[in-house]
Amino acid sequence: MTNGLQDQWNHCWINGEKHCLPTALDVTNPATGEMVGRVPLGGEREARLAVDAAAQAFPQWAQLPAQTRAGYLMEWAERIVRDRDVLAELLTAEQGKPLDEARDELEGAAAFIRWYAEEGKRAYGEVIPASRHQQRIMVLRQPVGVAALITPWNYPAAMVARKMAPALAAGCTAVLKPARQTPLIAVALFDRLMETGLPAGAANLVTGAADAIGGTWLSDSRVRKISFTGSTEVGKQLMRRAADQVKRLSLELGGNAPVIVFPDADLERAAEAIVANKFENAGQMCNGINVIYAHQEIADALTERIVARVRHLRVGAGTEPCVQVGPLIDENAVHRAEQLVADAREKGARVLTGGYRLTAGAYARGHFFAPTVLDGVTRAMAVTREEIFGPIAPIVRFASEEEVLRWANETPYGLAAYVFTRDLGRSWRMSEALEFGMVAVNGTSLSVPQAPFGGIKESGVGREGGHHGLAEFMDVKYVALTLP
Ligand code: ADP
Repeated sequence: MTNGLQDQWNHCWINGEKHCLPTALDVTNPATGEMVGRVPLGGEREARLAVDAAAQAFPQWAQLPAQTRAGYLMEWAERIVRDRDVLAELLTAEQGKPLDEARDELEGAAAFIRWYAEEGKRAYGEVIPASRHQQRIMVLRQPVGVAALITPWNYPAAMVARKMAPALAAGCTAVLKPARQTPLIAVALFDRLMETGLPAGAANLVTGAADAIGGTWLSDSRVRKISFTGSTEVGKQLMRRAADQVKRLSLELGGNAPVIVFPDADLERAAEAIVANKFENAGQMCNGINVIYAHQEIADALTERIVARVRHLRVGAGTEPCVQVGPLIDENAVHRAEQLVADAREKGARVLTGGYRLTAGAYARGHFFAPTVLDGVTRAMAVTREEIFGPIAPIVRFASEEEVLRWANETPYGLAAYVFTRDLGRSWRMSEALEFGMVAVNGTSLSVPQAPFGGIKESGVGREGGHHGLAEFMDVKYVALTLP
């Protein structure tokens, strides 16, 4: 790309204005190592200016009718859909995923925004029968105030939408910091949000130094809510630091998702759904399958079906036609994948396909790892205990429902779990007994605007999606009114 294009996104948005800085953060393409663009390297000062703007804009934004707020959101969604293909190219350039996945992500982002535009109109209160004569008990729902939103690099467009839409629909004003690896799509999405004529300060974007920006927002008492998606490690730090001001928190952190395949399952369907989930975004998905638990009676048959599909996955730059698996986000991610495979091998696992980094020809400049299936995996291997976040599918064999349930729950994480069975009783038993915030039976896709996405245990607190997601940005106020 030319220098002119590289500078196209070199601004933040504070108080309705483009904000440029002399220092910049370079963004590189994980498939080629080339520079895609740069954004301002913001810090404390920009973070504070953004909160100034959001705090000032809050009372007016909160008082607008929900219909009016919805109007801005609808226009934003329209612009995202209008420019979907251009935005998808940018997303793929900085993040790596195949163009089809990038387009789907943008459609999903627009769907999320539209859904919350509508849901904001339904932030109903309550009237509760009182216990005294002439008294009325009412419950109001009010926006919490300024919300700080911190987003990750794996779904850099969807995550902006999933946080901004409920925040703005609820009547909060927002300050957002995207991940260092993928800030360009956030800038491009904000460019389109600003085109809608959104009141100045209602939404602000600060790119740059995570610690400085996050730290400023955590210590500013005007910020009443933190919504974060990212690693459990950083989530815990934010939770500790948010305690000082008892800020409200939503955390969507790491996972260790099991998929459990029982002997009565439709194996074709299971294999197809497992491969689709496991290798989406090259395995870099928080609710992505971490371990495949296959019942010993069908383990060979399932493994065969999975391997056949994985061998056909086409790996390459996301911009190339028919590519299904793009690069990993950076060198660290490739190194980690290598280590996980080495550890599993040492402890006795067999590599059925893949298992190595791709370095030949066009792969040489990017961070590519071959789609991998491991058999003979045991619970002693790191690949079952840690979040893989890469294109590695380990298969563990189990003998009984009790055993596999114990193994699946034996993790500090609790985001998503998947079960394949045709037995209705078992579907219910497993759905109730699995200690995860989300359970999918006979399928592996979960993320839709109307459902509460989120985890329990160390996978986080709070929900994104559904009316639950709107409630995350609203306080409940009890008003006791005695008639005069
Ligand atoms: P990942 O492992 O997915 O890169 P991180 O937790 O490191 O996840 O990052 C997720 C988001 O949190 C990114 O936007 C990152 O810049 C931000 N982040 C990382 N460290 C901090 C911090 N100390 N304070 C605030 N935000 C942070």
